[in-house]
Amino acid sequence: MELELVRWLTENLPAHPLLRIGIGDDAAVLRWPTDGDLVVTTDGVTDEVDFILSETDPQLVGHKALGVNLSDLAAMAAEPVAAVVSLVLPRKGCGGRDAKELAIELYRGMLQLAEQFNVAIAGGDTNSWDGPLAISITAFGQVTQRGPLMRSGAKPGDLLLVTGALGGSILGRHLRVEPRVREALLLNERYELSAGMDISDGLALDASRLAAASGCGVALRLDQIPISADAVRLAACDRATPLEHALGDGEDFELLLTASPEVAEQIIREQPLGVPVTIIGECVDQRGLWKYGDQRQLLPLDASGYRH
Ligand SMILES: [Mg+2]
Repeated sequence: MELELVRWLTENLPAHPLLRIGIGDDAAVLRWPTDGDLVVTTDGVTDEVDFILSETDPQLVGHKALGVNLSDLAAMAAEPVAAVVSLVLPRKGCGGRDAKELAIELYRGMLQLAEQFNVAIAGGDTNSWDGPLAISITAFGQVTQRGPLMRSGAKPGDLLLVTGALGGSILGRHLRVEPRVREALLLNERYELSAGMDISDGLALDASRLAAASGCGVALRLDQIPISADAVRLAACDRATPLEHALGDGEDFELLLTASPEVAEQIIREQPLGVPVTIIGECVDQRGLWKYGDQRQLLPLDASGYRH
C-alpha cells in the first residue's frame, strides 16, 4: 500500500519553490526562505474524538488536520511554509474505501488547503493498524519582520478583540476550519497588537489562558460577544443558551487579540478584514476571568471550555 501511495503522492503533490527534495527520499529538504525565525507547531486529530470518519467526507478530515495546524501558525502571526504529515490508517479502510483510497482522499483535502496558503507538503509517514484513523501534522512557518505574536504581551487596560462569530462549530465549522492566516498577518503588520492566540478550546478557556500567560486578568463584555448563527441553532435544541455556546464551545479557530484602546478602536473603525472584528472585553489587574455586573463591578466567570 505504501508504495502505491508514494507513487500517487509523487504524481499529485504540486511542486513548491522552496521544496528541494520532497516525498520519495529519506527526508525532505527545504530551502529556508529568509534568515527569520522558524515557527514550528504540531497537532493531531483522531477518529471518534475530533470527527466521526464513518459519517464524514475524508477530504474534510484532511482539511481539518492541516487547518488546525495553520490556525496555530496564524495565532503566532507566522507565514505558513511547509508541513509534514503522519498518517495511521485503519487497516480495513472505511466506508467502502480501502486504506490507500482513504489516504488519497485525506491528502486531496489537505492539498486544497495547502494550495490556498502556498504550503509545501514536504513529506510524511504512512502506517496502518487495527485501530482508528489518526493524523498528526507538523507545520513550519516563518515570522515576519514584526516578530511572533505571543500570548504573553497583554497589559491591564488593553482591549480584547475577536474575529468572526463564536459557538456551535460542531454543526460543521469544526471541520471546515478557515485558518485566519491572512487576517493575522494583516492585523499584525498594520497594527501594534500586544498579544494573540487562536480560539481552539472555547472563548472562556482560551481568554483565561491568554490572561494567565500575560500575568493579568480578562473581563468579558458578555453582551458584546459575537454569537454565530450555529450557536443560536444549537441552543434551540439543547439546554445551553447561544451565549453559553459562544463562551464554551471549542474549535472556532478565530483569533483572540489584545491591543491598546487606541489601536483596538482604530481596528474597529477600519474593519480591515473580510470578517468582522469585535471588542469583547478588556485586560484587568485582577488575575482570572471576569464578567461585568450591573454596576460594572467584576464578577468571576467560569472558564469551562470545550470538552471532547
Ligand atoms: Mg492555538
